[in-house]
Amino acid sequence: MSFDLATRLAERRVAHLYRQRPLLESPQGPQVRVDGRELLAFCSNDYLGLANHPEVIQAMRDGAAQWGVGGGASHLVIGHSTPHHQLEEALAEFTGRPRALLFSTGYMANLAAVTALVGQGDTVLEDRLNHASLLDAGLLSGARFSRYLHNDAASLASRLEKATGNTLVVSDGVFSMDGDLADLPALCAAARQKGAWLMVDDAHGFGPLGATGGGIVEHYGLGIEEVPVLVGTLGKGFGTAGAFVAGSEELIETLIQFARPYIYTTSQPPAVACATLKSLQLLQTESWRREHLNRLIARFRSGAAEIGLRLMDSPTPIQPILVGDSERALRLSALLRERGLLVGAIRPPTVPAGSARLRVTLSAAHSAAQLEQLLDALAECWPLVSEHD
Ligand SMILES: *Cc1c(COP(=O)(O)O)cnc(C)c1O
Repeated sequence: MSFDLATRLAERRVAHLYRQRPLLESPQGPQVRVDGRELLAFCSNDYLGLANHPEVIQAMRDGAAQWGVGGGASHLVIGHSTPHHQLEEALAEFTGRPRALLFSTGYMANLAAVTALVGQGDTVLEDRLNHASLLDAGLLSGARFSRYLHNDAASLASRLEKATGNTLVVSDGVFSMDGDLADLPALCAAARQKGAWLMVDDAHGFGPLGATGGGIVEHYGLGIEEVPVLVGTLGKGFGTAGAFVAGSEELIETLIQFARPYIYTTSQPPAVACATLKSLQLLQTESWRREHLNRLIARFRSGAAEIGLRLMDSPTPIQPILVGDSERALRLSALLRERGLLVGAIRPPTVPAGSARLRVTLSAAHSAAQLEQLLDALAECWPLVSEHD
């Protein structure tokens, strides 16, 4: 007996689902060096262009000089340092919630929140297109787990009818592979009617959405009554690393007492929190980044429509081009790469079968001219992959 890994890997290759990691040889930015080539990238989640911002870099340098590098221990032992605490207070104020709790990654924040809130005898209801970390969290929790139709409050309501115990409704704010917004007002109304709690993971909304970058809850004007559990990640629009859960005093204390992915891990390097404090300030105050980004989004959508590309219903910097077949998505991505453009092909199981796509992401760091380069290349390449259907 042995593990037949070779067969598993070969099957994945044959199905055009094999993954490869592009090697980045430069900092994040529109112009990158990847696998030895200069490329214009449209696939990073650095939506506001803060990942390589000089003031954020300086804040991290200063943070390392003052606080050293390692977190040293878990938050409950001796790893909870002043920059972590200051960042939590700033994030609470930013989200308009009484408290916020800092995590090292969004994946862990989601595991922590879901598993601390529901368990055996309870119910967790999730959008079927939720991020993998939310789905994994739901399964791990041991609660009754059910997925409702994408963004469908009626489908949610019918599942709420059958729910037992404490019930948590979980949704992405901005859906990570489609770019559309969760219909939070409707989902929230359905949840509240049944006394369920709504948890929103707005990894892709913080930064691009809302007048001050406060994400989908700022966009819709929803407070803690409507969204008692609010998750944000710091590796995307914030340009740094980590994540947070924001909510009531009792919610945060519950996570500190019971959430295993919070308790049993080393705190993030304090200098990263110093960097995030700076990027939070830039994210809130430099509205021109959002304004420029929104102009790029509008231009991309109108240019793509002229070419005849199939876009999704997205008002966000995530602008997927629906291709369908995995092999064709890979071919389109390869053709763009030959022309110096980097756009990733997203295939199952990350997205549902038959819905492979090119996930174009726009950033405030892109210039209008760079976006025209992308549109020109798409106009040239798209007919080459759509001809042979
Ligand atoms: C990226 C992402 C996460 C994970 O966050 P990390 O900090 O990268 O672990 C969680 N939820 C959503 C919706 C995401 O897009």
